[in-house]
Amino acid sequence: MAVKKVKSGGTELFWRREQGWDKLARGEEKKLERYCAEYIGFLSSAKTERLVHDHLLELALKAGFRDLVQVNAEGVKLKPGDQVYRSYGGKTIMLMRVGKKPLSEGLNLVGAHSDCPRLDAKPNPLYQDDDLLLLDTHYYGGIRKYQWVTIPLAIYGVIIKKNGEKVQVAIGDQPQDPVFVITDLLPHLEMEGEKKTLASGIPGEALNVLLGSRAAEDKEDDKEAKEAKDKVKLRVLRLLQERYGIEEEDLFSSELEIVPAGPARELGLDRSMILGYGHDDRVCAYAGARALLDSEAVPQRSQVALVCDKEEIGSYGATGMDSSFLENTVAELFEACGAYCGLNLRRALERSKMLSADVASLHDPGFPSVSSPNNMSRINCGLALTKYTGSRGKSGASDASAEFVAQVRKIFNDKQVHWQSCELGKVDVGGGGTIAHLMARHGMDVIDCGVGLLSMHAPWEVAGKLDTYMAYKGYKAFLESDF
Ligand code: MN
Ligand code: MN
Repeated sequence: MAVKKVKSGGTELFWRREQGWDKLARGEEKKLERYCAEYIGFLSSAKTERLVHDHLLELALKAGFRDLVQVNAEGVKLKPGDQVYRSYGGKTIMLMRVGKKPLSEGLNLVGAHSDCPRLDAKPNPLYQDDDLLLLDTHYYGGIRKYQWVTIPLAIYGVIIKKNGEKVQVAIGDQPQDPVFVITDLLPHLEMEGEKKTLASGIPGEALNVLLGSRAAEDKEDDKEAKEAKDKVKLRVLRLLQERYGIEEEDLFSSELEIVPAGPARELGLDRSMILGYGHDDRVCAYAGARALLDSEAVPQRSQVALVCDKEEIGSYGATGMDSSFLENTVAELFEACGAYCGLNLRRALERSKMLSADVASLHDPGFPSVSSPNNMSRINCGLALTKYTGSRGKSGASDASAEFVAQVRKIFNDKQVHWQSCELGKVDVGGGGTIAHLMARHGMDVIDCGVGLLSMHAPWEVAGKLDTYMAYKGYKAFLESDF
């Protein structure tokens, strides 16, 4: 555990958090570094929820996981130790390993999300303003808008043509790729802007991504270019036609996400941290999936690693956890393990135990006014357990029971998982939520448990390496536990 009692004149004053480096077992630091290097590789390439899904699916297929839908279509019956997955919409994925105990006794779940704050292209995104071609965006999730200007950006996503053909877009992360940017005002002309607040300085409608500036040439035989009002736009549309075979209307049936360009990196002279886009919540999603893949071959209780979409905008929609995806998938699992029974499905969900694997906020000494210092997690002091989230009087929170907290605490202590308690910040200043409450409505025990971050939701977020590794170690210990 990551806290120790500090005594002063015989009185216990408070719990002080300790970093976990000297608590690692012999040889464990090497394992930690290897795991973090693999995570950095994953985070650098999986820049959208679709790419996270594809990456985790590939890992599962390599480990011999079978498609649960296919298993049921073929009437195959699963036995303890069998591994299956269910993929939904190319975005949400659930990996499962069947345990020795009947499913109706409950599952051990680790659930994270793979969508991250970003800018989405609007349905009709392209427009020319003077000599500049711009991409109109609608931000996704909670962002501080001023952080997104003047940094190199990449564009990822899919465009679906009229004939159903899917075009994959990934521009900005290969060395030969161009990048994109949102421009900002020069300080010399900032007189008016200086009166603005951080929140009002860059409004959402100002987040327009610069795509081009060169006009189509006015050649003799090019009637279209001659007559075009927006010649820069015309030239870029022609480039898009050439490269992807798409026309402007195809952009309406697309999902294009604008994200920071560049890879995740080791951070600090001591290389004790990781700077990356999308730690929230890919640091937990990767840990959950890897923990399940690396867990024992035949567990007591069935294991689930869930990586879902749409958490950052309230978990709504078919690929979010407000949908019936979990019930439907566990129902399919029942069918594959014997026979589906509605009552047993309800029993299984109610008796399940879950870690809602989502990031926590680290105490930042630069912003003490919002910190609740004794109750905030500290960097590299371990996996953060957040008993409740919510805001202003725990509103909207799923508050884990003291009994379940004790169970999780014991699992982590028994398996040398370095952990710490956590609260989001000072009471009354704000708040947040996760998928925990959507899981708790099935009646299952669930607690938020993840990696603490600095600059959460910023284009580049900071995570501690020890915390990153402890998420993997903690989730694995939890998945392998019997309740
Ligand atoms: Mn999150
Ligand atoms: Mn978030």
